[in-house]
Amino acid sequence: MNVALNKENYEYDVRSLVQSFYPGQQAVIKTLEAFYQEANQGRLDADANANMDNSNICATADNIDLIIDIKEGGATVTYLLHKEDGNISQESLEMLGGSSDTKEFKSAFKRFLYGILKEQTGKDLPWGALIGIRPTKIAMDLLNKGLADEEILRTLKSRYLVSDEKSNLCLEIAKREKGILDGLTPEKGISLYIGIPFCPSTCLYCSFTSYPITSYEKKGIVDQYLNALFHELEEVHELMQDYTVDTIYVGGGTPSSLSAEQIDALLSKVEELYDVAAVKEFTVEAGRADSITREKLEVMKRHHVSRISVNPQTMKDETLKLIGRHHNSQQVKDAFHMAREVGFDNINMDLILGLPGETPEDVSFTMDELAKLDPDNITVHSLAIKRASKLGEFIKENGYDVLNNTDETMRIASEGARSLGMHPYYLYRQKNMSGNFENTGFAKEGKNGIYNILIMEEVQTIVACGAGTVTKRVYGDGRIERCDNVKDVMLYISKIDEMIDRKRQLFMD
Ligand code: SF4
Repeated sequence: MNVALNKENYEYDVRSLVQSFYPGQQAVIKTLEAFYQEANQGRLDADANANMDNSNICATADNIDLIIDIKEGGATVTYLLHKEDGNISQESLEMLGGSSDTKEFKSAFKRFLYGILKEQTGKDLPWGALIGIRPTKIAMDLLNKGLADEEILRTLKSRYLVSDEKSNLCLEIAKREKGILDGLTPEKGISLYIGIPFCPSTCLYCSFTSYPITSYEKKGIVDQYLNALFHELEEVHELMQDYTVDTIYVGGGTPSSLSAEQIDALLSKVEELYDVAAVKEFTVEAGRADSITREKLEVMKRHHVSRISVNPQTMKDETLKLIGRHHNSQQVKDAFHMAREVGFDNINMDLILGLPGETPEDVSFTMDELAKLDPDNITVHSLAIKRASKLGEFIKENGYDVLNNTDETMRIASEGARSLGMHPYYLYRQKNMSGNFENTGFAKEGKNGIYNILIMEEVQTIVACGAGTVTKRVYGDGRIERCDNVKDVMLYISKIDEMIDRKRQLFMD
């Protein structure tokens, strides 16, 4: 899709909506003049600088699918080019009033563009014109303003064009989150995130900071990384003396790809600095079954880890092989049983819907297998296609249609989780999600992942240590400031003092 757009600050909204309607296609967004120049080998005559009403420009720029012109005076005129039998026609679709810089105008514009794209494709999107990654934040804001359920649902539908099903889900989750967050003290409490950017192998869809553990271990880099991380943890502890740590989350990468000794050293450091037995939740992602051993699980248990993840993504062995997980479903079952034997009573399992070639029957099979294990949480992800992942290449070779996330697969996963006595407790969306759906965490009563809610609702400061992590300071008035750590492991090790200084700056007052 080639889209001509005259206002840069609308690019994100236009790109997000266009790509949601045309999944698997790259939206190319440029100014009309840039398209014109391209079509005319660089020539840009006086006509091209003329206004959008000049039909000559549109006729010449026949490499454009959609032209959006947002007038400075506040009115928006959108032209759609219909290419039929080689003839291009120009049509004025609607006029919107108001200043283009207001939130209201942007919101009306998104609904307007949604209407055009819906007409073009004949599709409706489950989340309507809502492109943000935190839909529950909207419902939570409205709840905090004291709005009744019906008013919240009406707002989600009329302002954002969200479907009935997703509006109800959003409200259900926001109410549950509110109950959990009301039990915390956001202004005094913080959460601590620790990133371990190593994995046994790289998954097809991965876009996280992840390095192959075996080669980094051979070069002694993993221990160097841990030493730098310990230094950062110590300094952060000094810096955050006045706060209480509510939750600790060790993620990655795959933290369980470290050796039992390295995990012991890491958790000993955390325990030396914080009263881990007193935190409300202490999670370690033991994500990949090919990295889990009884010894590692025992080390985690000994250090008061209260919640772990054993992530299958799917229980279909053929798919696991295809996505480069280097483990099979039996290893997932064995790791899960081992974790129960060691005493973990809060185990999450991550799933991904829309994996290459997976059918509704495959999702049903996975849910049945998980039901036999009876975990405490299931997090259902919709596959997100990130440019940085190998999945992009895979799609180029095999076509977009191999990814098949539908209402049906979403329903199978949701009903499967609910049939295990779980309820949805957090939700987020990502860009370029297969089927344009969402990721939802389901949990049994009392087993909600508190850190997951905190990171999505952005109501508490999260201090993050390790390569590629992001610290977010949340102020009392809701303002958020962030500082990033570099992603590259070697750079992180060599610049550790700079990473610590960035945090000092952030928490100076
Ligand atoms: S386990 Fe997670 S972080 Fe590691 S390669 Fe796979 S997707 Fe990436």
